[in-house]
Amino acid sequence: FDAVSDTSLKPSPSRSLAIVGAGLAGSLLAILLSRRGWRVTVYERRGDPRVSGYESGRSINLALAERGRNALRQAGDNVEAAVMARAVMMRGRMVHPRDGTPPQLQRYGRDDSEVIWSIHRRDLNITLLELAEQAGAEVHFHRRLHTVDFDAGHARFIDDRDDTPHDIQFNSLVGADGAGSALRAAMNRRQPLGERTEFLDHSYKELEIPPAAGNAFQIDPNALHIWPRGRYMCIALPNHEGTFTVTVFLPNKGDPGFNTVTTGAEAQAMFARDFPDALPLIPTLVEDWEAHPPGLLGTLYLERWHTDGKAVLIGDAAHAMVPFHGQGMNCAFEDCVALARQLDDASDLQRAYAAFEVERSPNAWAIQQMALENYLEMRDQVADPAFLLQRELELA
Ligand code: FAD
Repeated sequence: FDAVSDTSLKPSPSRSLAIVGAGLAGSLLAILLSRRGWRVTVYERRGDPRVSGYESGRSINLALAERGRNALRQAGDNVEAAVMARAVMMRGRMVHPRDGTPPQLQRYGRDDSEVIWSIHRRDLNITLLELAEQAGAEVHFHRRLHTVDFDAGHARFIDDRDDTPHDIQFNSLVGADGAGSALRAAMNRRQPLGERTEFLDHSYKELEIPPAAGNAFQIDPNALHIWPRGRYMCIALPNHEGTFTVTVFLPNKGDPGFNTVTTGAEAQAMFARDFPDALPLIPTLVEDWEAHPPGLLGTLYLERWHTDGKAVLIGDAAHAMVPFHGQGMNCAFEDCVALARQLDDASDLQRAYAAFEVERSPNAWAIQQMALENYLEMRDQVADPAFLLQRELELA
């Protein structure tokens, strides 16, 4: 390798792992393993979010459910407490009718013991990264995985600021590098993983509702707001500082669709017609619509999640899903707990990875299917009186 070598980071032969990606799954896994005595080194493509501006390129906030909270608790009570300090409770769906009649809350459960929480991705990522470093993990930013030589145990990372290569020697790699995983591509080249991605005919764009005077929320903060309109919809989740992140889901082709609603003026006209009560809440609609490209939505299926004892995939790198159940991150967090447990229980890495895949892949598949089903429910049924009646009966 004709490159800068991080020789000081050479891992000890056993109980050492290199994690690719310091996103949500990578940083939680780093906490879990470091606290169990593993030597963990994390390599992240982006800059440190605590120093540089946060460049996630992904959704701005996320719904955290009991599955995810339970996984955070497994990493330590202080992990859950640190995350929940900035979470906003969402009691249910607040459905906004098109005709301007007042929105109605459909509770998720019987009372406030059955709720979900909205959390800002940047806050969550920084909290988990800090706890990972406190637990002993080494995190290296500006390291984009480029190539892997599995037999030699060498990986090359690139610093995209100046194209400098950095080479490392690894014992084994964990791919927490998201839906477009570079590690998955490298594993697939060595041994096909049976990869298939099914994209939806819909994409999304994010907008913002700013706070009112005094950082007050402009609409009820304790709900996930939905504007269902048949083939398309809008949702809004609260952020603790008084804003809401609005996500607009439209067909790629249609009227309205991302091919017909292209300019800010066209977006404004669509909001005036279909989401009239949301329009005055989004003052930067025109600029933001033109500045943000639509994000693709897809489901990733893999037949294999690991390559011998050399590499394993977790989170979106293994099973990216459409966001309509709000469970992608929650499921990724559960992966971290399961992998940490299997690594402690199994006699070698290959067995641990195989047992992890057997344990988690049916669950991930089930959640992927529920997310696709919920897409249809949110899009078509939440404004349907028969559906509301059925929900009333279920709760009675
Ligand atoms: P990511 O969060 O994508 O992290 C991957 C990390 O790897 C990033 O930091 C990235 O920079 C880094 N990386 C990428 N390539 C490389 C490389 N080559 N080398 C080094 N590092 C690399 N889930 C929920 O549970 N609730 C929700 O409400 C929710 N809402 C969503 C809304 C939308 C619109 C979308 C798109 C997704 C939503 N999700 C939600 C899903 C959630 O975002 C993902 O499941 C979650 O981010 C997966 O975490 P991850 O760590 O696997 O991947």
